[in-house]
Amino acid sequence: MPPFVKRIDHIALVVEDIEKALGFWQDGLGMKLSHLEDVPSEQSIVAFLPAKESEVELVQPTTEDSGVARYLKKRGPGLHHICLEVYDIEATLAQLKAKGMRLINETPEIGTGGKKIAFIHPESTHGVLVELYEQELQIRLDRAREFAERVINEGQTMANAALDYLRNLTGNGKEN
Ligand code: ZN
Repeated sequence: MPPFVKRIDHIALVVEDIEKALGFWQDGLGMKLSHLEDVPSEQSIVAFLPAKESEVELVQPTTEDSGVARYLKKRGPGLHHICLEVYDIEATLAQLKAKGMRLINETPEIGTGGKKIAFIHPESTHGVLVELYEQELQIRLDRAREFAERVINEGQTMANAALDYLRNLTGNGKEN
């Protein structure tokens, strides 16, 4: 069986008060807040705290009747879902369906920036809402290009340093 999961993209926590929650993640653990945004379309305020290639995401509902608000009312603050980045979301969903797993989204939803997401029902995951996420190809290509450029630049810097070192050794680096 091929590996479907690439990495943990984010862990989403539902909170009553985002400022108070930041008191723990930011002030207690020293995590940096990369983004704080009121998202009316999702009826919530969201905060993102990156940890290397993953993020902790805090969600505070701003209305009473959204899914997240009802979740908070029913279960209290805490873990809302974990998001796994997968290599191929369609293939992952097909595999889960073939195994009889209950999916909330049978086909991926297209989110902001063209990224594809789908949720798996907690009934099949033993109690945790799981989000699947496939990064848009363009983003992957951009990241790969950035990485390649960085390697080339670092290589150039190292080559220059090595040349300087050799020039100094042979005395050619000193003009006077
Ligand atoms: Zn999420």
